[in-house]
Amino acid sequence: MRRFDGDALVVATHNAGKLAEIRDLLGPYGVSLSSAADHGLAEPVEDGETFVENARLKAHAAAEALGLPALSDDSGIEIEALSGAPGVYTADWAETPTGRDFVKAMTKAHDKLLQSGEAEPWRAQFCCTLVLAWPDGHDEVFKGIMPGRIVWPMRGDEGHGYDPIFGPDGYDITFGEMDRWEKNRISHRAKAFEKLIAGCFA
Ligand code: IMP
Repeated sequence: MRRFDGDALVVATHNAGKLAEIRDLLGPYGVSLSSAADHGLAEPVEDGETFVENARLKAHAAAEALGLPALSDDSGIEIEALSGAPGVYTADWAETPTGRDFVKAMTKAHDKLLQSGEAEPWRAQFCCTLVLAWPDGHDEVFKGIMPGRIVWPMRGDEGHGYDPIFGPDGYDITFGEMDRWEKNRISHRAKAFEKLIAGCFA
C-alpha cells in the first residue's frame, strides 16, 4: 500500500455535494484540497461498467492532467427490487437538458418500484468507491457500503442526491433528515474513507 506523503490533493469531482463531504472527512489530516473543477478540467466521460472502472477513470485523468495525486469517488445507489439499478447510472437518472434534477431521479426510482410490484421494505444500499491515483499511474482502491431502504415520500433537505429517499439501517430518519456530521460518521463514503485513511494517511 502506497502512503500519501504530499500536502496537496486534487479531488477529481465536479459534484459540490461530494466535495463538501470529502472536505469534512479529510479536514483533520491537514491536506490542502482543490477540485478538478477548480483547475478547469473537463468532466471525463464515465463510460465504465462498474464503480471501480469509473473511479479509476476520473482519478487517473486528473492525476495525469495536473501532475498531482488525485482522489476520485464513484458512488451510487443499488435497489434490490430493481436488480441493482440505478447503480453506476445513479447520476444519469437525474440528467435533464438543463442540468441534474434529483427530484426527477428519486421519482423515477419510486415509479419503477411501484411498477415492479415488490412489497416494502424496498432494500437498497449506497456504494462508494474511492481511488487515490498518482501521476506515475499507481493507484489504491477502497470501498464502503451503507445498507438501508427506500422511503417514500422524500423527507429532509440535508445532504445531496438521493438522500431524501434513503433510510439507513438502524435509523427512523432519512439521510436527508440527518445532521451532516452523523451522516459522515456512518455513511458508505465514511466507511471507504476509514479504509483510505488507515491505508494511506494514518
Ligand atoms: P458519480 O458522480 O457518477 O459518482 O455519481 C454518483 C451519484 O450517486 C450522484 O448522482 C449522487 O448524487 C449519488 N450519490 C452518491 N453518494 C450519495 C450520497 O451520499 N447521498 C445521495 N446521493 C448520493
